[in-house]
Amino acid sequence: MGLYSQVKEQVSTRDVAVHYGYKVNRKGMMLCPFHPDKTPSMKVDKNFICFGCQEKGDVIQFASKLFGLPPYDAAGKLIEDMGLTVTAENRPEVQPGIRQKAKRERTEKQLFDQAVDRIYDVYCDYYHLLNEWANAYAPVSPDDDFHPLFVEAMHKRDYVEYLLNLLLDGSEEEKAQAVIDKGKEVDALERRIREYRSGDGECSARSGSTCPAGYDRGRDPGSSGCDREGSGQEQYHERGADPVL
Ligand SMILES: [Zn+2]
Repeated sequence: MGLYSQVKEQVSTRDVAVHYGYKVNRKGMMLCPFHPDKTPSMKVDKNFICFGCQEKGDVIQFASKLFGLPPYDAAGKLIEDMGLTVTAENRPEVQPGIRQKAKRERTEKQLFDQAVDRIYDVYCDYYHLLNEWANAYAPVSPDDDFHPLFVEAMHKRDYVEYLLNLLLDGSEEEKAQAVIDKGKEVDALERRIREYRSGDGECSARSGSTCPAGYDRGRDPGSSGCDREGSGQEQYHERGADPVL
């Protein structure tokens, strides 16, 4: 329900007139505030009408005209003065304190979202690396030793996938916990991925810039993005030489 409707539902023009000190007689008539009036010529109930000057309207128009305010501000004044309850998203921010609090909450929310996004991006990158390693370093014959990167891929892939899903679809509490738990680890991981990528000529040539940005979830989500459905399926070129970690 709109703000004006909420106000009009809760107070009549008569309530408001009485609140601001106007005397309303038993017939619901009062002296008109909008023209020099010697006998009560304004009728007030839910709305108002003056039989002298023909002014008429609803409670918001009454307050607007009475205080010389735009309707929205008049509604805000009625909410404050009459102690009305309206749904928060419709409430005019009449007090600077309320505005500042809302702004502060927005900023905190933005910082939190940024922290979640960063962890997501780094783990997304890591997830792609794990998939690469799972393919590139898989043993080719029964006599081969397991390559450490292949072992890491086998150990971590499921967990990282779980973490990415949580960062996308988890509750705010789960995301907050991940930010707390992974805040430091993610720095080290980001550094490790960067170092790994910078030692990888094939990858740099392919993306034309630093490689991790190429997997940013904002870009090309259909193919290389870390979407929930597709990500395990990607195949990368097998490398000839072992990159140095
Ligand atoms: Zn009048």
